[in-house]
Amino acid sequence: QPAYLNDMHEYDKEVDFSIAYDHGIQHAIGGLASKPERDLLMQDFMTMSMCSAPLRELSNPGASGSIFYLTNDDEFIIKTVQHKEGEFLQKLLPGYYLNLDQNPRTLLPKFFGLYCYQCNSKNVRLVAMNNLLPSSIKLHQKYDLKGSTYKRKANKSERQKTSPTYKDLDFMEHHTEGLFLEADTYNALIKTMQRDCRVLESFKIMDYSLLVGIHNLDEAQREKTEARKRTDSGQSDGDDAEGEPRKGLNRTRSEQGKEDFTAQVKRTQSINRQRLVAHSTAMESIQAESEPIDEEEDVPPGGIPARNARGERLLLFLGIIDILQSYRLRKKLEHTWKSMIHDGDTVSVHRPSFYAQRFLDFMAKTVFKKIPSSLKHSPSKRK
Ligand code: ATP
Ligand code: CA
Ligand code: CA
Repeated sequence: QPAYLNDMHEYDKEVDFSIAYDHGIQHAIGGLASKPERDLLMQDFMTMSMCSAPLRELSNPGASGSIFYLTNDDEFIIKTVQHKEGEFLQKLLPGYYLNLDQNPRTLLPKFFGLYCYQCNSKNVRLVAMNNLLPSSIKLHQKYDLKGSTYKRKANKSERQKTSPTYKDLDFMEHHTEGLFLEADTYNALIKTMQRDCRVLESFKIMDYSLLVGIHNLDEAQREKTEARKRTDSGQSDGDDAEGEPRKGLNRTRSEQGKEDFTAQVKRTQSINRQRLVAHSTAMESIQAESEPIDEEEDVPPGGIPARNARGERLLLFLGIIDILQSYRLRKKLEHTWKSMIHDGDTVSVHRPSFYAQRFLDFMAKTVFKKIPSSLKHSPSKRK
């Protein structure tokens, strides 16, 4: 047994399921490690990500009651799934693997593991997949988009959160003109989504979403300036409204040290991220080659450059999520015997294709637009 496996017992006691990763991954790695030499495997990265630091529970679960955890290094999301979803993933896996192998440029979720944790005759199923949204920067808006307008509005309790996940109708209200991309980026993105949707349709999968996180670079700049102004005025009259009084130069120095350290950690994290071949950023996923616009800024790599209607510079982090619902499974729950007699199998063929078409239409026409030349010349710098 490699030495690092002994350290795996330092899992986070706060998260009940941690023993499942510990056991499941230890088992997987233990078996592989008995072979004298082998290539680096996906599981090796998981060991580091999941067991070296506590997981964080996300506060934005969907209606299904699934619980979400994020690994401390920001790489993986762990989601509890239903029995049916776990079963479906197992059936899906060979075809899904083939597709990923043939076509690594994809926005479809990357599944790294499916674990079952048994506790008092209860089974908890966990899926590990790639995290799409970086937590090291502020996402000014987040959307879960399906291309449907029926009841697609974030409810009150969601809207009250510090970082709500909005839905289709909210998007149309916030971005009446959509999000603007360079023509090449737009084409690459839409092409990737078309290919992905074809795969999902072939598996009769429905109800998936495009998760979009928006970092507004200009907004972030304004926020930084504002914060600096507040700190400056706080220091000059010695009155820090935020509570703790400042203690002169020493305090400032230690703050500086803290900042340096944070920057260092961030840098290391971003290097680590680049090393993780298992991952591709949004930009890599769509194989777009437009120039990055954020080199000087302290933001994670790989966001897709875009602009809003005001010409502000945006970075988009996105991917397709929640694909473990097959129409074949849902049909049993939602359709009465009568509708099955009437529609027969034609329903199960047409529903996923209708879903995919509507999804693509919405993305290609409402959400993303090719940048008009009037927006191209950095109007945000005119101020
Ligand atoms: P429902 O079936 O009711 O839609 P669910 O429990 O299946 O919900 P998901 O739709 O998979 O949940 O995800 C819910 C939310 O969790 C998303 O809107 C998103 O905010 C977050 N989320 C899910 N997957 C990821 C991911 N891979 N990366 C980052 N965030 C994610
Ligand atoms: Ca969902
Ligand atoms: Ca779901």
